[in-house]
Parts: sequence; structure tokens; C-alpha cells
Amino acid sequence: MLERELGSNFITLSSKVIIRKENFGGILFNKETGDIVEVDREAFIIISILKDVEIVDTKAFLELPISCKGKKISRTSIEEMILRLFRAGVIDILPKGVLSEDRYGLLEEFSRKKIEWPMFTHLSAPETVHWAVTFRCGEACPDCYMERHKKLFTNELDTRNALKLIDKIASAGVFQLAIGGGEPFLRDDLEIIAGYATEKGLAVHITTGRYEIEDNRLDELAEHIKVLQIGIRTDELLHINTGTHEELRMLVAQLNQRRITTGANLIMTRSAIRNLDRIIGVLSEVGFRRYTLLRYKPPINVKRWLKEKPDKYDIEILEEKLTRIGEINTDIYIRIDCAFSFLGRKLNPQIAAYSGIKGCVAADRIMSLAPDGSVFPCSQLTGAAFNAGNLVDEDFESIWNGSEIIRKYRGFRTKESFKHGDCGKCKVKSFCGGCRVFAPDALSSDPGCPVPLYDTGYIDDEVDIISEIQDVIGCTSAGFPYARREEIETWLEEEDDRGYPSWINLI
Ligand code: SF4
Ligand code: SF4
Repeated sequence: MLERELGSNFITLSSKVIIRKENFGGILFNKETGDIVEVDREAFIIISILKDVEIVDTKAFLELPISCKGKKISRTSIEEMILRLFRAGVIDILPKGVLSEDRYGLLEEFSRKKIEWPMFTHLSAPETVHWAVTFRCGEACPDCYMERHKKLFTNELDTRNALKLIDKIASAGVFQLAIGGGEPFLRDDLEIIAGYATEKGLAVHITTGRYEIEDNRLDELAEHIKVLQIGIRTDELLHINTGTHEELRMLVAQLNQRRITTGANLIMTRSAIRNLDRIIGVLSEVGFRRYTLLRYKPPINVKRWLKEKPDKYDIEILEEKLTRIGEINTDIYIRIDCAFSFLGRKLNPQIAAYSGIKGCVAADRIMSLAPDGSVFPCSQLTGAAFNAGNLVDEDFESIWNGSEIIRKYRGFRTKESFKHGDCGKCKVKSFCGGCRVFAPDALSSDPGCPVPLYDTGYIDDEVDIISEIQDVIGCTSAGFPYARREEIETWLEEEDDRGYPSWINLI
């Protein structure tokens, strides 16, 4: 059956795939697509044999007594696993031919090998490390959260220490390095850092706020990076005659020429949500196809936050727009950040798991580094209270496995303050959990969730204060409220900070 399906009995592990052993089995990372597949122990044993032997004859493979947890894995299970892995792009088929006796000998030897599974139940390393290589930046974007803590980090690593840091990240088994800032292009050694990380086997992505990048820098980076994300200043984009459209058009062309995947990062302020169709329209016209929608995190300016923070009504608008934009523009790809996981709350949990939606992944699938090598659970949770150590002085494993901060955030779903809030009682907490940044104590429930889901179904018993106020004020004879939602929101904002997270005032 296998040979008929595959067209050959010779298979190999795809050269695009990196494998990593975990307590539950393992993770397979596709370097080309960035896709991550988790497999159980049985499947990981099969994949490890393939990796060690390099070329395997499936006919001989199916005859071997391969076991997992002391039990023989059935021939049918191995056949099904090989087919599934082939369909997932993990296995390549080789043409029919002749295999040396040595290779059959190796197959027998490795199929008897016992795997020592990691003792920790958490991941052996994050999937992605986010590294702000500098906090310097020439722009002063009003919605940048970096301003909150950049004064805390005046040092940035020199090239030698930056490369030492990459050695530690790569040897820990991390798959991807996401380089950001500040403005990473302000570092003259950005190309050296990206090149070294690629050489060490990391898939490198860069995020920049620059709309103009010199050709020679892009030529060099094209050899090393997979993706360049451009942080779009949406306010500026909506003003015509600024030259912004032309700058972006040229940048996208430069990147396309060099086959660098380009994406646009869009911060979902209230204004951006309300103008999302126009923003995507302009960006699609200049050549963008991939968009990442980032939840608006509190900037340093509280007044700006009060003005631009989306409320539940804006989130409903966003949900409705996302459905519509996706239906109209079939050639674009929209991704949302982990802080927006509640947008996927109506998904079936199995579909969410299959689609790789994991919710808040701080200190679990991601880890963040400041310019001086300080370690944090995520790039949003930065400051003394979240400092888990410094990767220049300490080794990766002792921070990842031993730091109190890392363990606290990795296990946030088990903490009392989380368990008793809406998120803790929500039935999708395993693949959402809300964003810690918005919780008053940076750990418990996310007050920005539009509608938590309790086990009994949707709860919608939250009082809509604005509707109540409208009811009290009354309506015109045509049925329109005398006060618009926006007006009432402004009154409320004057009295209330609308949830500017209190932990931020403490850092
Ligand atoms: S704290 Fe928020 S931004 Fe950080 S990983 Fe969790 S959801 Fe994402
Ligand atoms: S209540 Fe929390 S866990 Fe549930 S959907 Fe909302 S943000 Fe996610």
C-alpha cells in the first residue's frame, strides 16, 4: 500500500525540516515555510530513525520490530505515520534504486536504539526568540510600546557578545530568531548578526520601521533572512501626498527582486480598525500581500491610549471586517498576534490545535531578549519585575528551566489570580488565555476580551454601559439615540483610565 501511494519505497527526511525531541514526542520545524508540527513519541521514533539512517527502504522498515514504551509499533501504524508525514511535507520520496547493505545495517541498528526522553514536560526551548537588538530609533511613533522601558536598557551588546548570544540560542535548539528593536537597521552589524544566526541554523526574521533601505544592505540580508516585516505607521498612510505610498511601493519592489518575503505589521488602534479597509486597500495596491494585525498595547502616553484603545464595540467591528476583507481579497494573507487570540475563540478546540493557535505563549513558545541580553517572558513584559536573567552571563538552560519568572509565566494558567477570573473560567483558555499585558497585575484575566466563553456557552450578561446611558438619555422621534456611542465613550474616558494596566505604572 505504501509503495503504491508514494510511487517508490525509498524515503528520506526532508532537508527543510529540523526535528527537536520533547517530553511528549517532538517538534518538526519547516525552515522554508515556518510551519511547526508536533508529533507523539511513536511518530518521533520513526522520524529519528529516518534522520539517522538518511535513506530508508520502507519495505525493510516495515519488517523491523520498532517499539515505543515497551510496545511494538504495529506495521499499520508505521504505514499511516509515514503517509501522514509525507502529506505534511516532512518526508521526501526518492527515486527507485539500489541501496547499499551498509544502509540496511544502519536501519537495523538505529531501529533498536532507545530514545531518552527529556524529563521536563515543558518545551526544551522556545520555538522563537525575539531579540530587540537596540532600543535606539529615529522615529517617535506615538503608539510604540518600546518607549515605556527603553530607558531601562542603555547598553546594547557589541558584535562579539551578540554572536556569543546567538551561539547560545542556536545550541539550545531554538528554531527562529525574530530581530527587532528599536530600529534594527541602526546597527551597522545587523547583516553580520543575521548572517551568523543563519549559519547556526536559525530561521531569521527582521522587523523594521524603515521605509527606505539601502540596496547594498538588502543585497547582503537577502542571503540570510526569510522575512522582513515592515511596521506601518497607519496614521501617516491615510494622509495622501506624503510620499509614503511611493516609498513603500519602492521598498516592496526592492524586496520582491531579492525574493525576501515582505509583510506589513499593523497596530490595531481604534482609528486603524475603523479605517482597516482603506489601509489594506492602499497597502495591497503598493504590493503587500501578508499582514500581521497586532493588538494595540499600552504606549507610554496614557492620553493617547485613552483615545486609541479599541473597546469591545471596536473589536466587534474588527471581527466583522476581518471576515469581509478575507472574503473579498482571496489573494492576501492575514495573521493575528497572540494577544488577539480571543478572535479565534469560537473555533472548535481541535481545529485551533490543528491550526497552531496556542494563545498566550510567553515563556513557553517564545522568549524575549533586550539589547543587553536580559531575558523576559515576552517582548511586552519588560522591566525589572519580569527580568529572568541575562543570557550573556548565564546559560540558556538554567534560565529556561530554572528562572522563577519564566516558570511563573509559562504556568500562568495554573495561578490563583488567573483561575478565578473570566479567562480562568473560560472554556477556550487552553488556546487563548488572554494577554497578560492587559491584566492589572500582568498575570490574571484579560479585561479586553469581547465575550468570555463559560462552559455553559456564551455569557453575555455584562452590562453594556453605553446602551444603558443611551436608554436613560432617550432617542429622537426617528429612534436615534440623542448621544452617539463615541460621545458617551469620551465622557466615560474623562473619568476613567479605561484599564491602562496598573503594573505599567510600577516599572
Ligand atoms: S503576554 Fe500578550 S503579547 Fe506576550 S505572549 Fe502573552 S499574549 Fe502574547
Ligand atoms: S475570556 Fe480570556 S480565554 Fe476566554 S476568549 Fe476571552 S481572552 Fe480568551
